[in-house]
Amino acid sequence: MTKNLFTKAELEKLRELPIEGVASRLGLDVRQHRCLCPFHDDHTPSMTFSTTKNRYRCYVCGAHGSTIDLVMGVLFDKQGGAASALTDACKWLTKEFGVLVASQYMCKSKSEVTPFEPKRFARYFEQPKLSLNAQDFLFAKRHLHPAVVRYCRLNSYKDWLQIPYYDINGNLQGIQSRYMGKDKLQPRFLFPRGKGCHIYNMQVLKMLCPGEDLYIAEGCSDCWALLSAGHKTIAIPSATLLNREELKAMFLKLNLMENRNTVHLYPDQDMAGENLYKKLHAVAADVGIPLVRHNLPSGCKDFSDFWISQQSSRKEHIMT
Ligand SMILES: [Zn+2]
Repeated sequence: MTKNLFTKAELEKLRELPIEGVASRLGLDVRQHRCLCPFHDDHTPSMTFSTTKNRYRCYVCGAHGSTIDLVMGVLFDKQGGAASALTDACKWLTKEFGVLVASQYMCKSKSEVTPFEPKRFARYFEQPKLSLNAQDFLFAKRHLHPAVVRYCRLNSYKDWLQIPYYDINGNLQGIQSRYMGKDKLQPRFLFPRGKGCHIYNMQVLKMLCPGEDLYIAEGCSDCWALLSAGHKTIAIPSATLLNREELKAMFLKLNLMENRNTVHLYPDQDMAGENLYKKLHAVAADVGIPLVRHNLPSGCKDFSDFWISQQSSRKEHIMT
């Protein structure tokens, strides 16, 4: 029996993919949270989906489970041990939904994936254009500073926001897409296409003076909000998935100790945020960098949330 390649955190992430979206990708015809059960000879839709629990259940044969169970059952249950079926189902989900998982970083480049050519794409971000939808998303909903959006060179294409990842010298490394539309079946973020997209907003490090504060965000959205608040920030979207040694290697490359920088973090108000804080705290101690923890007020799940609530109350204050 082969060992499952995915970590607990990665499995958690895959289980959070929209269950009805997963069912649709498997070819099941989901209508009004129901479909024909693929696990028994069903003629009236007896499989139901709970979007709050993100699970499926068949009231005739009793089949039930998560996104991963559904894929395993429909596509991979026939042969192999349970662990290989699990790995195959997870691989299928990552590929189908473009989920960011650390295991992908460890894999050698796959032949079936066309290599990303930064030179071909860099021009799209030279004079980025934002659709009205994107402007609404970034400015009206998220209250981001226009200078931050310009500096990050955010671009839009249809319902997708295109987020360029640069290296420290401003060379394009990859692109990540963020869905802004209303289709609940779409994943919110696709993993970045391109190489070396472990850190977002690397180019800020060139502007970081010795002894200055650097903020670390879990993802792009928090990074933009922190930048709008005037903090020099990088995001490490894969941080929760990386182990301590991998994070340490990443930290050492940033030369923060030599420059006597202090690192700041607003942990997300959930288990993942708390675990990330603990991990970063240990890594910072290992490499000798001071890490300052900031707590979000209750009711704000992440910094972006906090920033939005602050800005909208400020606007109301001006209006009244
Ligand atoms: Zn059934």
